[in-house]
Amino acid sequence: MGRETQGGIVGAGPAGLLLSHLLHLQGIDSVVLELRSRADIESTIRAGVLEQGTVDLLTAVGVGERMRREGSVHHGIVLRFGGRDHRIDLHGLTGGRAIMLYAQHEVIKDLVKARLDAGGRLLFEVTDVSVHDFDTSAPKVRFRQGGEPQELRCDFVAGCDGFHGICRPSIPATRRTEYQRIYPFGWFGILAEAPRSTPEIIYARHERGFALVSTRSPELQRLYLQCDSKDDIANWPDERIWQELKARLATTDGWSLMDGPITQKGIVAMRSFVVEPMQYGRLFLAGDAAHIVTPTGAKGMNLAVADVRVLARALAEFFTSRSTELLERYSQTCLPRVWRAQRFSWWMTAVTHRFDDDDAFSGQLQLAELDYVTSSRAAATALAENYVGLPMDASSLK
Ligand SMILES: Cc1cc2nc3c(=O)[nH]c(=O)nc-3n(C[C@H](O)[C@H](O)[C@H](O)COP(=O)(O)OP(=O)(O)OC[C@H]3O[C@@H](n4cnc5c(N)ncnc54)[C@H](O)[C@@H]3O)c2cc1C
Repeated sequence: MGRETQGGIVGAGPAGLLLSHLLHLQGIDSVVLELRSRADIESTIRAGVLEQGTVDLLTAVGVGERMRREGSVHHGIVLRFGGRDHRIDLHGLTGGRAIMLYAQHEVIKDLVKARLDAGGRLLFEVTDVSVHDFDTSAPKVRFRQGGEPQELRCDFVAGCDGFHGICRPSIPATRRTEYQRIYPFGWFGILAEAPRSTPEIIYARHERGFALVSTRSPELQRLYLQCDSKDDIANWPDERIWQELKARLATTDGWSLMDGPITQKGIVAMRSFVVEPMQYGRLFLAGDAAHIVTPTGAKGMNLAVADVRVLARALAEFFTSRSTELLERYSQTCLPRVWRAQRFSWWMTAVTHRFDDDDAFSGQLQLAELDYVTSSRAAATALAENYVGLPMDASSLK
């Protein structure tokens, strides 16, 4: 069966859903195809830190109302090392900018609702998605819905299908360059029904490995500890997790970690990845389909948002004037910001994690780096401006 639309969007993550919403606001029609069910995408726990630019954009396009009500604005973060806390005053160092803690699946719920309320076409639980003819002016997406083969004819395809999606590998291998780093460790993440231990996110560097304390609500806390990426969740009963977190987060001033029942556990591998360019013909990649950052800098979802903001603008120009200028420059516009986020995420990882080849010398270098960033206003400002998010337009840093 055949259908038509202006934009065929593969993937209903933050990238695909926000793109569909932004296009709708410009009067551009799209269809979003998603492998998973609505209930599944609305309940998968992932990111939680929204940069100031992401918050501003979601608010400006009418999907920020619940986020403003239920999210929590943070004006600083804490770097903990040597058993002591060192606060980075994000707000003071960036002229009043901040971050918002609001879970990614809540952003997803807001976007799904906005699209469905506006009559948007979101097709869940489709299978066998494949993209075709995107090197012509008449691309197609083929898929199955309820087992029936379908074909979506469109003017362009947006590959918003995450790192393991089908869009990126559909670009001929000779027309893309991939840059990748895989780290020798992962993050063990938990959700715990416990009171808040800290008003601000804590990044802890410890000889036993990195730990992070974040929050989702006054009753629900998100914590991570560095682990072997091949480790098995079964090796980590609750008592061991709390014991390890408490050891890595111990301070000299008697701070205590609040514990409680653990409701979710998972291991995230650590990877940095970029594909260049982020487009081929009429196929445009956005978000994790084009790049992965280590979660230490809290940039993944924010990069996805920044990409689709650029893409929506370029498509709006195309559909209004038939000019392909912004579309042709899509990768060129996004990539400098992507690489800056890579640099920052790598740096945050490098100064806080224990590496396999750790030796006493590199441990001392990490401490010197952390000491510098928490004692020099210039260095702290550099951290703060990256953490709250660089301008959407990378050239405006100059
Ligand atoms: C455990 C974890 C913690 C994280 N923490 C943070 C954080 O604190 N801060 C941060 O900024 N980022 C974080 N990230 C990264 C962030 O979640 C991602 O960068 C973000 O989800 C990217 O959005 P996306 O829309 O590009 O891709 P995704 O969210 O991956 O969405 C892609 C969608 O495409 C669908 N799909 C895949 N293949 C197909 C197909 N063939 N056909 C149709 N649909 C398909 C998938 O089901 C999925 O719904 C974290 C990630 C993980 C895994």
